[in-house]
Amino acid sequence: MSDTFVLGWEEWAAFPDLGLPAIKAKVDTGARTSALHAVAIEPFGPANNPQVRFLMHPIPDQPDVEVTCAARAVDRREVISSNGEAELRWVIQTHLKIGERSWPIELTLTNRETMMYRMLLGRVAIQPDMVVNPTVSCAQGELSYDLYRDFPRRKPVKRPLRIAILTREPNNYSSRRLVEAAMERGHIAEPINTARCTMAINALSPAIFYDGRKLDRYDAVIPRIGASMTNYGLAVLRQFELTGAYCLNAPDAIGASRDKLYAHQVLARAGIGMPTTAFAHSPKDTKNLIDHVGGSPLVVKLLESTQGRGVVLAETKKAAESVIDAFRGLDANFIVQEFVKEAGGADIRCFVVGGKVVAAMKRQGAEGEFRSNLHRGGQGLKVRITKEERAAAVKAAKALGLSVAGVDLLRADSGPKILEVNSSPGLEGIESTSGKDVTSMILEYIENHVHVVRKPKPRRKPVVSEEILRPSVE
Ligand code: ADP
Ligand code: MG
Repeated sequence: MSDTFVLGWEEWAAFPDLGLPAIKAKVDTGARTSALHAVAIEPFGPANNPQVRFLMHPIPDQPDVEVTCAARAVDRREVISSNGEAELRWVIQTHLKIGERSWPIELTLTNRETMMYRMLLGRVAIQPDMVVNPTVSCAQGELSYDLYRDFPRRKPVKRPLRIAILTREPNNYSSRRLVEAAMERGHIAEPINTARCTMAINALSPAIFYDGRKLDRYDAVIPRIGASMTNYGLAVLRQFELTGAYCLNAPDAIGASRDKLYAHQVLARAGIGMPTTAFAHSPKDTKNLIDHVGGSPLVVKLLESTQGRGVVLAETKKAAESVIDAFRGLDANFIVQEFVKEAGGADIRCFVVGGKVVAAMKRQGAEGEFRSNLHRGGQGLKVRITKEERAAAVKAAKALGLSVAGVDLLRADSGPKILEVNSSPGLEGIESTSGKDVTSMILEYIENHVHVVRKPKPRRKPVVSEEILRPSVE
């Protein structure tokens, strides 16, 4: 046998699986179980395999450094604390590392905010070959809280994530695939119906209520907000962001992409090729509008069109005038666009995740139809996109600030022309056509971007807004 392993009356510990590189623990053989400081403790996942998510402030005098942790719950148990009170606590199992040794231990989770140590190491967790020497401090060496300062920001998280899918269609292909793929990767994704969320807008404790019940915290939200609910959906998404969740697409970026006119301005400013487009408010401008886009044939589009429903091809100048006048009579918002004939009733959908085109498909409109939308009888086909098309799609998603986007473009003689950028692109057509597992790529992106540690911004005095961004803890 090698030398005995000595524990002092206090030791520096680490929990690699929880993402905690340094915690100062009090070694207390008078206590049976070990305890870890935790707040906002919330169970999630299936009843037969529950997980617990909690927030941890590892540095006693720096409560603004916050680490989000999650682990499998092994039990829920009544524990008598040092003040004699019984408390029902969640118990997790995880690896403890002290010095060179690492071993699995059980930890109960409890609020130790008022205690000197964030962790208590009880006798059950002390291995048979270890001895406690109550006269020494840190027999296994020192660690430092600086480890939190250098915490890698982009390291993929290992913890099980609790993900909300903001959707009104929990049973469609995209929602089902996201739930499935999340589970395969050890996470839990729950569809949340946007229309059933209400919000309490309050600076100290931003909350979301679901059918009247307060929602727990989520690590990430996947917004799949329908066009009919853009404004309310974005407000709900912002509220999730306030409660500390990572939004796959930022609310502002979704808002920009939904506003076709604004999106066109953003793309134009970024130097991205688009069909010549005109917009006017005055009813006298019909002739000018037509001239702006080079005469007929031209395409007139309702700004709120989706699935090709409000997109009309006017073959002649006369037809163009009557369509424009008709839309005006209805007080509709619309754009007039040059018709890209050589596209041949087809467009290309490029699926962008994190600045890369991860899959693409060609959509070919039905015979005699210039609109290629699958909802209009279009067909998805395999396609190889060019370098130029790839670059244009990536640039368009970036210009609008979208991490995940479906970029639609036309193949024009002069190169790719971007039609629109969709912030919640469907997964069914693209996965079945390209054969790629786009859903898993989205989840991997979330794993790489979810918040790990939240720390105060350096060299800035804490201001009120910082307080607002950090959810208070009940
Ligand atoms: P929606 O948002 O309703 O899908 P789009 O702008 O994407 O509206 O247009 C629907 C379809 O019509 C496109 O996928 C494309 O096939 C066709 N289309 C749209 N604009 C043009 C254009 N300027 N030239 C040629 N075809 C077009
Ligand atoms: Mg479209």
